Amino acid sequence: MKSHAKVVVVGGGVVGASVLYHLTKAGWKDVLLIERAELTSGSTWHAAGGMHTVNGDPNVAKLQQYTIKLYEEIERISGQSCGVHITGGIMLAGTPERVDWLKMAKARGRYLGMDLELISVDEAARLFPLMDKKHFLGAMYDPIEGHVDPYGVTHAYAKSAQIGGAEIVRQTRVTDLKPRPDGSWDVITDHGNVHAEHVVNAAGLWAREVGRMVGLELPVLAMEHQYLITGDMPELVGKKEQMHCIDFEGEIYIRQERGGMLMGTYERAGVPWSESTTPWDFGQDLLPNDLERIAPSLELGFAHFPAVGDAGIKKVVNGPFTFAPDGNPLIGPVKGLKNFWVACGVMAGFSQGGGVGLSLAHWMVDGDPGADVWAMDVARYGDWTTLAYTNAKVRENYSRRFSIRFPNEELPAARPLRTTPIYEKLQAEHAVFGDYCGFEHPLWFAPTGPEAVDEVSWRRSNAHPHIGAECAAVHRGVGMLEISNYGKFDIRGPAAASWLSHVMANRVPNVGRIALTPMLNDRGKLIGDFTICRVSTEHFFLVGTYAAEQFYLRWFERSLPPTGVTVRPCAVDTVGLSIAGPQSRALLQTLVRDDLSTSAFPFMSFRRMSVGMVPAYVGRVSFTGELGYEIWVTTDYQRALYDLLTKAGREFGLKSFGGRALNSLRIEKGFGTWAREYRPIYGPYEAGLGRFVDLKKEDFIGRSAALDEKGGGGKLRLLTFKVDAVDADAMGDEPIWHDGKTVGWVTSGAYGFRAGASIALGYVPRELADADSGFEIEIIGERRRAVRQTGAPIDPQGLLMRT
Ligand SMILES: Cc1cc2nc3c(=O)[nH]c(=O)nc-3n(C[C@H](O)[C@H](O)[C@H](O)COP(=O)(O)OP(=O)(O)OC[C@H]3O[C@@H](n4cnc5c(N)ncnc54)[C@H](O)[C@@H]3O)c2cc1C
Repeated sequence: MKSHAKVVVVGGGVVGASVLYHLTKAGWKDVLLIERAELTSGSTWHAAGGMHTVNGDPNVAKLQQYTIKLYEEIERISGQSCGVHITGGIMLAGTPERVDWLKMAKARGRYLGMDLELISVDEAARLFPLMDKKHFLGAMYDPIEGHVDPYGVTHAYAKSAQIGGAEIVRQTRVTDLKPRPDGSWDVITDHGNVHAEHVVNAAGLWAREVGRMVGLELPVLAMEHQYLITGDMPELVGKKEQMHCIDFEGEIYIRQERGGMLMGTYERAGVPWSESTTPWDFGQDLLPNDLERIAPSLELGFAHFPAVGDAGIKKVVNGPFTFAPDGNPLIGPVKGLKNFWVACGVMAGFSQGGGVGLSLAHWMVDGDPGADVWAMDVARYGDWTTLAYTNAKVRENYSRRFSIRFPNEELPAARPLRTTPIYEKLQAEHAVFGDYCGFEHPLWFAPTGPEAVDEVSWRRSNAHPHIGAECAAVHRGVGMLEISNYGKFDIRGPAAASWLSHVMANRVPNVGRIALTPMLNDRGKLIGDFTICRVSTEHFFLVGTYAAEQFYLRWFERSLPPTGVTVRPCAVDTVGLSIAGPQSRALLQTLVRDDLSTSAFPFMSFRRMSVGMVPAYVGRVSFTGELGYEIWVTTDYQRALYDLLTKAGREFGLKSFGGRALNSLRIEKGFGTWAREYRPIYGPYEAGLGRFVDLKKEDFIGRSAALDEKGGGGKLRLLTFKVDAVDADAMGDEPIWHDGKTVGWVTSGAYGFRAGASIALGYVPRELADADSGFEIEIIGERRRAVRQTGAPIDPQGLLMRT
């Protein structure tokens, strides 16, 4: 084994092999993969090898498309067959809700260039004769589905990488990783050491153990997974290969395997494997079968596909593979660990392995993944994802693999975990809570206890009128919202202002003022949107998205000077309440001595104030479009603040509102938000944030790309639409049509109670941004007329929040 390499990839499963290949493809030749045993010796070797393009996140779906196309390339380069069988696939729906889900999946596929087709049960039975039609209501056909040979794919990646200059060392275990002061690593193995500039943890089933070598507790857990292979079936003799099939209600996937069928299930009573440590002596082993555990699914499967039940079971495979709490991979660099990368938690290696390898290699070589990989970014998790949290969420996710997740559905596992001091007070107000990074936050308020539960639906739910009442209170009187789940940073030091000016695209505000600003990457794309509040010359309070806290900190690390600035995340110790509505000033004025009139405390002001006896920061900002204030306090004061506001608020008819009302109110104002309107695939001018980019500043990250975007106009435009919706509003990812063609996609949607209309935000090509008519938005399979708005549907001049 050589003693030095630019990169050491730990692990030779399908993911490590793909990362290695993509590194050579991106031009890094001095790369070494170290494998404990033989290639595929983790979960890869016994995988069922199924692959498909459909994914809940469109950006992940694109990377799945890439993976499937890649097999041709690595077969060509390596001469190694991947055993690709593109059989096509059908997804079967057994309930009306699932039929709606299929309609939406098909609609989303339109702008991803996927050729999905909704078909009748009769057509489905023609394509997949083993099914018993009586259990189903509809189906969807996808021509790009099938299966591969896991061994062949891994070796094709590996050989292609070796042809590109990579080395692979087998039968060698990485036992420790030691950082050097310059950011490089000593990779300690049982066969000698390697000095590497970068290390990639692609250790699959042992990703946790390799993470622990560097002090990381990665949120991954292996689950046992079983599939069976039947004996040869006469029904298959002389026929074309059966296609891949997913039976959602049966929670079953099924495909042909030689002369029989392979049937697997994600059972409700899923069992984790090696909950805290993975034994090093586990190799190409299988776990004991437990057909009892999957009996309920098999019973359904045999009823839905009777010939399969009659064929008899020839073989059962029970093997472990890893999941992150949300089922998506964990990739990227890790905050605080220089040149340490992860590519693990990949539960669908044969659909996602190529995309994971591509993005990670780009990230390492170019400093940017080259695609929107937020859904897979390891930085989406933080300290709350302990071993036990991960265990609860992974079990839940596994058991729901084939379940519908409705847009208003909150999942129960690992809750409540993180609560603010006013949690019980909000409970007493019949708050219906949502889970956000483990935090409980109110979504809406029911009038009475028993009603305080969401009836899950694709359509407007039981919460609709109550959300409407909350919006009305904000519009006509005053509402109060808990805003503790925002991300917050305390930034101080003599170099704080100049550093912020370099990292953020807008100018840094004066003392006592607030500025909204996008944060751009080197390519000038949006990687954050912040509110910068200036407390004093050298002290700032930054508000952003809590889910992206680790992502931001990792980004900040790149540019923080060694001295002169400290950045302290303070989301947990600084909590808040916001009041909004025309009466909000009068209410707050009863509690503070400061003059809140617009002349004394205008829009975008920020000041330390005593609210009653509570020391607070008060900012006059608005995400609702109404006059409003954000009040930030340390956690110990939140109950007192709540009590003060609720008591004083009685006179003004104060009403609590939740995240659902806020969403409706911000959408009516055309205000975007991170991960919906603002993502690294959009530029600031495309997203309508150009006015917050201060090109007069000589030096900020992304400036030259932003200048180019402004000059060229960008490719897309974020538009606001009023939609002729009936009982279901857009929610995001619906296609936008223009003159009969799919031209864009929705990023957010909601019913706008002030506007009395259904509203959607979405991107279309710039050339269509001024089109007066011809737009439609497809909601649950129906194309609804959408009217482009020239300004926000509510108060386009923004006078309400300014006066
Ligand atoms: C029963 C079953 C059915 C499945 N069906 C499908 C399917 O149909 N479609 C699909 O896409 N996916 C399927 N999967 C999932 C798929 O197997 C995984 O997504 C994939 O194998 C993950 O690959 P990996 O490279 O991340 O991990 P692994 O395959 O676990 O590879 C990790 C490798 O790292 C090595 N390693 C670990 N630690 C060290 C160390 N310290 N030093 C050196 N080497 C080390 C290990 O020996 C191992 O070879 C299935 C899994 C199972 C168990």
